[in-house]
Amino acid sequence: MAKTDKTFVIKRNDLQSLFDVLIERGYAPVGPTVRDGAIVYDELRSVQDLPEGWTEDQDAGTYRLKQHDDTALFGFNNGPHSWKKYLFPPRSKLWEGEKTENGSFTVKDAEDTAKPFAFIGVRACDLHAIQVQDKVFMNEKHPDPAYVGRRNAALVIVVNCGQAAKTCFCTSMNTGPRAESGYDLALTEILDGDDHYFVAEPGSKDGFSLLAEIPHMEAGNNNIAAADSCTKRAEEQMGRNIDISDIKDLLYGNYDNERWQELEKRCLACGNCTMACPTCFCSKVEDVTDLTGDHAERWREWDSCFTMDFSYIHGGSVRPTTRSRYRQWLVHKLATWHDQFGMSGCVGCGRCITWCPVGIDLTEEVRLIRNSVKNKEVANA
Ligand code: SF4
Ligand code: SF4
Repeated sequence: MAKTDKTFVIKRNDLQSLFDVLIERGYAPVGPTVRDGAIVYDELRSVQDLPEGWTEDQDAGTYRLKQHDDTALFGFNNGPHSWKKYLFPPRSKLWEGEKTENGSFTVKDAEDTAKPFAFIGVRACDLHAIQVQDKVFMNEKHPDPAYVGRRNAALVIVVNCGQAAKTCFCTSMNTGPRAESGYDLALTEILDGDDHYFVAEPGSKDGFSLLAEIPHMEAGNNNIAAADSCTKRAEEQMGRNIDISDIKDLLYGNYDNERWQELEKRCLACGNCTMACPTCFCSKVEDVTDLTGDHAERWREWDSCFTMDFSYIHGGSVRPTTRSRYRQWLVHKLATWHDQFGMSGCVGCGRCITWCPVGIDLTEEVRLIRNSVKNKEVANA
């Protein structure tokens, strides 16, 4: 990080004023907090709601919350939630209709009554995940009005990672651990003996105006060096990696690889990976009526490509086996997403690895497919 006139320091004890200003400006601050044995995202009122001193152990199929040996407020990695639960809620009403006295039906679009969100503690990989979903929901031809409204109103406060979980591979996907752009304010948390502060970089007009209302000072070279070594440490701790150099050709050329059969023996088709993934966007639509038939509503809910129903078209499902569904998911994430949206559908957050009940790891699966191709080449040489 080069010292610029955009780099400042906010003392740990002044961080509460960030919350105060956000609330005063009408935002709903949301961010990490400890609940039900995990670090989840929820509405926050103050710094005290943050997971001070908490961290976690993560690995394939494993997540254990534990106490840190310091008082870091952001000394952990991604948990089961992602920001999509706010921008693209798990369940949302699209419209409702009433039967009128003359027997016709009036329909009105559902109103979004949510306050604008201030996302606090967005990791670099998750900022990329938001940008991936922007491509889906904010495209020119078919924008999703609810998503567009929430996204345009949201304020994004990044906290760069100072550590990586065993399941993280953002460096392989070029999405972290430091956010480069697309945020309103980026913070890097520094604990140096008794000194506890945040290196702050505003990234937008809103970020500058927010900072203007929070006690801050110009960052010195030592602060900037500390922020650099913080994200360097996360890079060095990166738990996993994936070679994506020729990923499209590799996956398109291996629809019949024997690995898909092996996966079928383990995958439960539970869909956890898709629920936890910050970029997965599939949904279904359901109509409900009350018993009188006078009132009807249409709801949208998250769905998963792992369910049999998801690919049902007249006469049956086009992906009847678990093998075909896992293959569809992985190939879409890493290959067809490029053709569809011009970017990868995976940001290397590692959630699908941690929250898979049987510990299936997409980085390992890609490695095994790659190895099987190499082995065949050697055998045929
Ligand atoms: S596929 Fe897995 S690692 Fe990639 S973005 Fe989704 S949850 Fe994260
Ligand atoms: S890969 Fe894991 S999380 Fe995903 S559907 Fe299969 S068992 Fe469930």
